[in-house]
Amino acid sequence: MEYEAVIGLEVHVQLKTQSKMFCGCATAFGAEPNTLVCPVCLGYPGVLPVMNEEAVRKTILSGLMLGCEIARFSKWDRKNYFYPDMPKNYQISQYDLPLCIGGAVAIPGKKLGITRIHLEEDVAKSFHYETTSGVDFNRAGTPLMEIVSEPDMRTTEEAFAYLTALKEVLIGGGVSDCDMEKGQLRCDANVSVRPVGQKAFGEKIEIKNMNSISGVRRALAYEIQRQIAAAKRGEKMVQETRRWDDEAGVTSVMRTKEHAHDYRYFPEPDLMPVVVSEAWLAEIRSAVPELPEAKRKRFVEQYGLPEYDAEVLVADAAVAAYYEQAAAGSKNPKAISNWVMTELLGKFADNKIAPLQLAELVAAIDGGQISGKMAKDVFAEMFATGKGATVIIKEKGLVQVSDAGALEVLAEQAIAANPKSVADYRAGNASAINFLKGQVMKLSKGKANPQLVGEILARKLQA
Ligand code: ADP
Ligand code: MG
Ligand code: ZN
Repeated sequence: MEYEAVIGLEVHVQLKTQSKMFCGCATAFGAEPNTLVCPVCLGYPGVLPVMNEEAVRKTILSGLMLGCEIARFSKWDRKNYFYPDMPKNYQISQYDLPLCIGGAVAIPGKKLGITRIHLEEDVAKSFHYETTSGVDFNRAGTPLMEIVSEPDMRTTEEAFAYLTALKEVLIGGGVSDCDMEKGQLRCDANVSVRPVGQKAFGEKIEIKNMNSISGVRRALAYEIQRQIAAAKRGEKMVQETRRWDDEAGVTSVMRTKEHAHDYRYFPEPDLMPVVVSEAWLAEIRSAVPELPEAKRKRFVEQYGLPEYDAEVLVADAAVAAYYEQAAAGSKNPKAISNWVMTELLGKFADNKIAPLQLAELVAAIDGGQISGKMAKDVFAEMFATGKGATVIIKEKGLVQVSDAGALEVLAEQAIAANPKSVADYRAGNASAINFLKGQVMKLSKGKANPQLVGEILARKLQA
């Protein structure tokens, strides 16, 4: 029998806000443990939470970018449990009335549904040492958005594409940096298998503890194989939560359904419900940036780029913005794309070249002022110093020699000095001309226009 997987993802995203969800503490990553704390995020008795409006705004913005319906009325609830990383013994979250409902993440050729997006507070981080454990409360209270997907994915690749596309949208909207290494994006994966053709879903297994997108991919691949093998042996799955061990490359049982938490949710009495006015919603809607999918399409149409270029450039919003500024000042947007893709990606943060200067460099090449080889040197200097293309070309005396008279003289010299190559060429060895061309380039100290040199030599050798 053939089996297929059914996958749904629960993604937690730390929002990029200055301060925490319910207090004024900073949200910086990597600070000395327990320095970004106060009575509110340490869960002291008697303190009162104050809602961070920017976090609500960024959650609504996320919802709008993902096509969700925005709830005009939502509320906060207490999710009760006992754990060292949660000293209040409850987490403030949203239960039955989340901020965003529905929506979808677009992957190539398919839309993967979103069930809901709600806002909550992150918990502290535990560290386990040889004989002791420690808790760092700097993370406690960081605004955390949970995005729950519909069980719409059928393969590991689709789950991978979902996460990649979701990250792209959230980063593009400035909602989060989504750096998994810093724990800014964390993902739990729910997976079940069923015989192909069967409508009903199988019992789902939830996998936790994956700290990279490739970890999610490997965990899902492992778990799908494990479940299919079990199904083929006639075993029934029971609903359980499993832990991914990245080093061993296996999942193992964490808890079964009987040990599932009962969180005893109830409305948070210390916070007012969130009421989203039409005016506020309209204001946030006006800040929705162009989505990656639309931007890729526009890049292909507006700049005549291949899809591949559009994909690479749009993948980073800052790179895409830079490209557009450079292309706006250029007659050759494809050449701009080539320079950005081959020379700027990966070291974009160190780039000192203003976008219009890149356009100027491309114009100098296209206008025959400098050769492609010279352009590489000019580019390197522009990159390091931020000086303009024209300035560097002048300073270095790099201007390409396209003066036919001057080149003729050099060609004569090369021909006179290399009778063997001349004879070879005339005897039918066409490639012998390349050696002569190289000699002329050398005589010109690399400044001759190579195309023109080729033409002049061919003409003289014919004679
Ligand atoms: P829970 O209440 O246990 O958290 P939910 O119904 O909220 O369960 O679903 C959590 C996640 O699991 C969602 O992303 C959902 O799409 C996914 N999911 C639900 N049922 C299945 C299933 N049978 N197989 C795979 N994923 C599932
Ligand atoms: Mg759940
Ligand atoms: Zn605090």
